[in-house]
Amino acid sequence: MSDDYRSMWTDLGLDLEAHDALLGVLGNAYREIYLAQQDRPEGMGYFDFVMSEVHGLRIKELLDEKAAGRKIVGSYCVFVPEEIVLAANATLVGLCSGADFAMEEVEMLLPRNTCALIKSAFGFKIGKVCPYLESADMVVGENTCDGKKKAYESLGHMIENLYVMDLPQMKSDQGRALLKAEYDRFKAAMEVLTGVTITADALKEAIRTVNAKRAALHRLLSLRAADPTPISGLDALLANQVFFYDNPARFTASVNAICDELEKRVAQQQGVFAAGTPRILISGCPQAVPNWKLPWIIESAGAVIVGEESCVGERGTRHLTDDTGRTVDELMAAIVDRYFQVDCAIFTPNPDRLMHIKEMVGAYHADGVIHYGLQFCQPYLMEAIPVEKALEDENIPCLRIETDYGMEDAGQLKTRVEAFVELLKP
Ligand code: SF4
Ligand code: SF4
Repeated sequence: MSDDYRSMWTDLGLDLEAHDALLGVLGNAYREIYLAQQDRPEGMGYFDFVMSEVHGLRIKELLDEKAAGRKIVGSYCVFVPEEIVLAANATLVGLCSGADFAMEEVEMLLPRNTCALIKSAFGFKIGKVCPYLESADMVVGENTCDGKKKAYESLGHMIENLYVMDLPQMKSDQGRALLKAEYDRFKAAMEVLTGVTITADALKEAIRTVNAKRAALHRLLSLRAADPTPISGLDALLANQVFFYDNPARFTASVNAICDELEKRVAQQQGVFAAGTPRILISGCPQAVPNWKLPWIIESAGAVIVGEESCVGERGTRHLTDDTGRTVDELMAAIVDRYFQVDCAIFTPNPDRLMHIKEMVGAYHADGVIHYGLQFCQPYLMEAIPVEKALEDENIPCLRIETDYGMEDAGQLKTRVEAFVELLKP
């Protein structure tokens, strides 16, 4: 790393020693899990570069944007509309929360039986190791599950400008009205933060920018329906992870470039795994950078992942926002309509998610589903049982996994996944 980056991190208030340790672990994991794969598409070189510069070049770009007067907004959930942030001439970055850090200190503030994702958000703040968090002019928390909702009360004491967004729990008229009111309040807050009045033209352009990112991922996902699959699940997951913090236009172009390459691979029946390899759909909690544990175990066990029913995956990106409205009110209504379809397990009841999982099994020709639940995540662990039942009713094999970010259970998970993969073989 260059000295420039080190002084940049010092200026951001990072703990350099702890940060070096984090980057060391991240770099090793990336080499062992990603770079060790065979026959990767050449276009993944871009994502390798992004990962090698994840705390370097991208942070420098964000700081350059800030120096030019643009605001940076951090978010922990796909319910925070990037369209509104972009229309206010600000940049949205996902705050990944995919690794354990400073766990002893975290467990002084949160009960031990809190999910790894929430603990990670605290650990990155307490440990002073996340340059995205430290660059943000506003961090948006959202009242999704009870864990997050209560955790933001404590996190608010550590983050200067934590904005809490309330969210509905039911797909009712009242629920939609709440989401609309909250998005209007968020729009007003963004206008105060940036000093920019959001216009219909800006909103329309922002909708198109975000739709283009999603459409590129839709293209990537649809190519995974081929057998042999032209890209590994690990690489596809990485593209879904980078979605949250890359420059939007560059991300869209890079994913489309990979898709051009994958189309050729599909035409030549060239895959990363042999035709007939057992195909798995992962469903459940989001897998944020650098949480690659389960996909790595699955793809090392002789199966290929063909889709992610996840917020870092198709649940987060499947719907586009209608951009045909002419006024700010019409376009804001379209944004509410789009996000109100997200079928996170915090909703009750949540039949759309069951339907979507089954649809994905069909669309990507999955042989089985692995339900990924983070330990102590009540919404997804509870919903895993009806998911398994609905799949069993259609003779679709399902394996329920409950884990955290630690590697202690890797051996045990490997044994269970290998047995499941054996079952899927013809
Ligand atoms: S799983 Fe729910 S709470 Fe988590 S990012 Fe998705 S929508 Fe937000
Ligand atoms: S993983 Fe589950 S418990 Fe953790 S923040 Fe997400 S919904 Fe809440």
